[in-house]
Amino acid sequence: MQTRKFGSSGPDVFVIGQGTWYIDRGDRKSAVAALRRGLDLGMSHIDTAEMYGDAEPVVAEAIAGRRDEVFLVSKVLPSNASRRGTVIACERSLARLKTDRLDCYLLHWRGSYPLQETVAAFGELVAAGKIRSWGVSNFDTDDLNELLAVAGKDKIACNQVLYHLQERAIEHAVIPWCEQHGVAVVAYSPFGHNDFPSARSPAGELLKAIADAHGASVRQVALAFLTRRPSVLAIPKAGTEEHAADNAAAGKLVLSAGDIAALDTAFPRGPKPRGLPML
Ligand code: NAP
Repeated sequence: MQTRKFGSSGPDVFVIGQGTWYIDRGDRKSAVAALRRGLDLGMSHIDTAEMYGDAEPVVAEAIAGRRDEVFLVSKVLPSNASRRGTVIACERSLARLKTDRLDCYLLHWRGSYPLQETVAAFGELVAAGKIRSWGVSNFDTDDLNELLAVAGKDKIACNQVLYHLQERAIEHAVIPWCEQHGVAVVAYSPFGHNDFPSARSPAGELLKAIADAHGASVRQVALAFLTRRPSVLAIPKAGTEEHAADNAAAGKLVLSAGDIAALDTAFPRGPKPRGLPML
């Protein structure tokens, strides 16, 4: 099983984690079983957010009695990310998650509150033992540079960003920045949310051929490609035990240089966009 360091002073975490956006919209029993099966298979990193409706209570049910196995991440909405609002939002998330601490707490995307305020609140939450580390999401390099100037070295645990086969913008500058500064890159929507490459497209056929050669699934090949660098983790969302098990097995799949070159051509990175794409 491959692991990744979660920030310069963070723990080693299994390279594949579990997303929870929309997990409250499907069958609850199946969602809870999927998360628990994921934990059984080593996918300890569970990503949620105050924005995800009732996902936090679903996570609470899944991790009940197993809190110590979990690397639990939640996020504050930018509209709540003031000095005081961040602390209150975190306490609400802790209550919904039925736990006393988060392993990492993220600013969901950059809003209008000064970064100084949110960072000060994160510091207060760390000192109180309510969060073990903090990070950000949807931050481009200019935001990261500002944040680094505010927070100082070795404080930002991760940057959670959009990354899938058909959206590789972060490879231009965000991944290199994070690698230079010891910040873990967490790939969200690694299957393109609901836009996984069609099996009937030439690129989809290539995925299938590579998967067959490894005795793997096409989703596993996608995850292995995205996490080919030692700085990157991925957090696919699975609503069924079968999907969770499929995703967990990607943590063992290592692609050859030839596979990576072929995927690189079939799903080109494209030019650097003006702004960082987000979902
Ligand atoms: P995703 O993980 O790219 O794709 C989820 C879809 O893939 C679901 O329809 C799921 O179906 C399906 N799926 C999962 N495993 C599968 C498998 N092995 N075989 C076939 N289908 C499979 O989408 P996402 O939920 O947008 O992204 C993942 C997580 O990233 C989110 O849940 C959230 O935690 C995080 N996220 C963060 C941000 C941010 O701004 N920070 C934005 C978006 C997402 P089933 O549900 O039927 O299993």
